[in-house]
Amino acid sequence: MTEFDGLRAIVTGGASGIGLATATLLAERGATVSVFDLKPDVPAPLTGYRADVSDDSEVRSAVEKAAAAMSGIDILVNNAGIGAQGDVTANDDEEWHRVLDVNVVGMARTTRAALPYLRDSTSAAVVNTCSIAAWQGLPNRALYSASKGAVFGLTLAMATDHLDDGIRVNCVCPGTADTPWVGRLLQAADDPEAERRALEGRQPMGRLVTAEEVAQAIAYLASPSSSSTTGTALAVDGGMYGLRPRPK
Ligand code: NAD
Repeated sequence: MTEFDGLRAIVTGGASGIGLATATLLAERGATVSVFDLKPDVPAPLTGYRADVSDDSEVRSAVEKAAAAMSGIDILVNNAGIGAQGDVTANDDEEWHRVLDVNVVGMARTTRAALPYLRDSTSAAVVNTCSIAAWQGLPNRALYSASKGAVFGLTLAMATDHLDDGIRVNCVCPGTADTPWVGRLLQAADDPEAERRALEGRQPMGRLVTAEEVAQAIAYLASPSSSSTTGTALAVDGGMYGLRPRPK
């Protein structure tokens, strides 16, 4: 018997980075895992479903298919997210709505579609991927930070609303993590090496977080062994939130 034996999970944005590491870890620990993504090409034993979290009918259809294939849903990892750069003037209304639609409304959409199944589970857990950007004023991340601040508030509200349903709701707050997303950001920088050093130097541990480290935290929050933990935000940020070491 392993920790997640018999449990059925959905991971959104599960075809890359933190989502793929999480889906892989949950499957290694015994869960049956469905991945929702725009291009859901995932290795066995994961099963991929095309689901754009900004499209309600796609989300509902994928939830129904995954629930039928797995005979239920116990765990939902709301991880799909996109970035945005610049200060408050940098993006037009359309882009503000697009990013909030994916990063925030996408979590509401997927959760409400999965809710009837989560209510039927005896080990129900939702884990949202938030960010250090919900807590710290990062430069040139106005829209992205607004979206992650909303995810933090949504996590607390959902945790309260679903206490009586027996559904725990928590979030993880990663610092900058070494994923394909950050790889793309670095490639777009004028000096990718200098940009990487700046991001590493911002985290007290002096390195980027790995996708696998975030996956371990998500797995903890999703696990039946964290059965008294709800409405929390777990930082996986190399000390960025709480520590102020003297500059070297
Ligand atoms: P990534 O780009 O490697 O993976 C994100 C995945 O989400 C991709 O597979 C992408 O196709 C999918 N996706 C994007 N839009 C989608 C949509 N509309 N519907 C369904 N799937 C969609 O990124 P990552 O770094 O692994 O980021 C995952 C999550 O972690 C995001 O919510 C991000 O905000 C958060 N996060 C990342 C970092 C970081 O430094 N990488 C830090 C804090 C939080």
